[in-house]
Amino acid sequence: MTIFKPYQLVSREVQPQDTLISIQNTVIGRDFVMIAGMCSVETEETTLYLAKLLHSYGIKFFRAGAFKPRTSPYSFQGLGIKGLEILAQVKQQTGMAIVTEVMDTETLQDVAAVADIVQIGARNMSNTSLLKAVGKINNPILLKRGAAATIDEWLMAAEYIVLSGNPNVILCERGIRTFNEHCRNTLDIAAIPYVKEKSHLPIIIDPSHAAGQSNLVTPLARAAVAAGAQGLMIEVHHCPEQAYSDGQQALLPAQLFELQKQISCFMPASCESLASEALPG
Ligand code: PEP
Ligand code: MN
Repeated sequence: MTIFKPYQLVSREVQPQDTLISIQNTVIGRDFVMIAGMCSVETEETTLYLAKLLHSYGIKFFRAGAFKPRTSPYSFQGLGIKGLEILAQVKQQTGMAIVTEVMDTETLQDVAAVADIVQIGARNMSNTSLLKAVGKINNPILLKRGAAATIDEWLMAAEYIVLSGNPNVILCERGIRTFNEHCRNTLDIAAIPYVKEKSHLPIIIDPSHAAGQSNLVTPLARAAVAAGAQGLMIEVHHCPEQAYSDGQQALLPAQLFELQKQISCFMPASCESLASEALPG
């Protein structure tokens, strides 16, 4: 077959059926996946507190960054290896699957030892040596779209990972840089149906980094699910004003549960029970 696309393995032409990625009891690509947690790993006490709270309400995937790619070198840079140790505690004590970011090849093995899903952040989407390196590990990869990347560039980044040997890539749209000044980034909703047409890889949405402010997160999440997103990744904090990073865009746990209730009406019937399972009470 002659293919003229700059990406091939991730295209629907090469693989018409959806990629399905099993993690614990969730099949990403088939089941709706809700990933929630704080922006950065914080103290053992606060991280475990939030993780246990989210877990008690049915959240199965906990996110938090130990290595943080911050725009300013003066901002909190993450706890590093200590943060990974705290995430290992979360996993041990709650059984939740862990989603955490890798920033460089030097720390990849350490991150991969703890993470059920290894995140490549927006700033590293075009780091081809990192993409090739995560192509050689067995963990599923959450590949965020770069803030100024076209969809073709994003799919080519995914192609690097799959071509290097790792077929389990989850795409994550997190907003792109536009002329707008009213929120942090512009969530590209059209990316959802467009990517689903072009690629068999699952696509999830991070409305938190798109919005940049907590009051916009729930409406963006609703829009994403209505447009066919196969999951959400949301920043949550029980005390946002004391968060080490991105507190302004964090939902309170109660707001996340309200969000889950609101999105359930946009989901296929098979996913509704998952959403209601997660509601308190
Ligand atoms: C994050 O998920 O905390 C993060 C740094 O996001 P992004 O790479 O999308 O900016
Ligand atoms: Mn963040």
